[in-house]
Amino acid sequence: MTEAGSAATRVLDVAGLSARYGHIEALHPTDVRVEDRELVAILGPNGAGKSTLMRAIMGLVENAGTVRFRGRPLPRRAPEACAADGVVLVPEGRGIFGPMSVAENLELGAYLSGSKAEFERRQERVFSLFPRLKERLSQVAGSLSGGEQQMLAIGRALMSDPKILLLDEPSLGLAPRVVEEILGSLSALNREGLPILLVEQKAPLALKIAQRAYLLSVGRVIAEIDPRKVSSYDEIAHYYLS
Ligand code: ATP
Repeated sequence: MTEAGSAATRVLDVAGLSARYGHIEALHPTDVRVEDRELVAILGPNGAGKSTLMRAIMGLVENAGTVRFRGRPLPRRAPEACAADGVVLVPEGRGIFGPMSVAENLELGAYLSGSKAEFERRQERVFSLFPRLKERLSQVAGSLSGGEQQMLAIGRALMSDPKILLLDEPSLGLAPRVVEEILGSLSALNREGLPILLVEQKAPLALKIAQRAYLLSVGRVIAEIDPRKVSSYDEIAHYYLS
């Protein structure tokens, strides 16, 4: 298993983070970390609390505990505040604006980009990752295929030049071939050095691209996993839970 990195290499440090919906505690105090250049997967069945963990990190649900980004407390007032700090979530369901064009969606993601040159640099990075978005710039986002919409959601997040990318089940509802393409592009981004925290229910796929993983069950982390040792839920159960 990967050793815990030093404070200097720690990108995201989630400590004792819990979250509730009314009187229901959906996430019990949880510790999760992402080191520099790591792709970390959050695995678990339906209802395990994966989305709640992501929402709690971003301050989108009532929560307690601490989240530090590069050693500093993350101001979790709104996604915009986190994005300004470089922490960007691609939510489950993608969160793109259906009636707007691909170009307009990308522009919205870049509202903090500053100069035109910087905007173009970021857009080129998105196009090199997802050439199909360039071909469909004027198309209404709602008319894209599911896979293209997911590409747009990731592309829009990249337009804000994140320092860490959080993704909540980007494979949801997509055909296997498209899932492979999306996860392949996340792996490519990670190889460029972008730290990623990826919620994924499909363990075999996530374990192929992650350097570490956590298994959530009923609102708790029940195992920290080394993907070099296991490649499925069955193997996780055998090696970590027996
Ligand atoms: P899935 O893979 O199905 O998305 P998940 O692991 O992301 O599941 P969560 O969506 O975080 O799980 O849900 C964790 C628990 O919190 C579940 O019991 C769920 O019913 C509950 N929950 C989630 N959202 C709400 C909400 N808005 N109000 C009340 N309870 C909620």
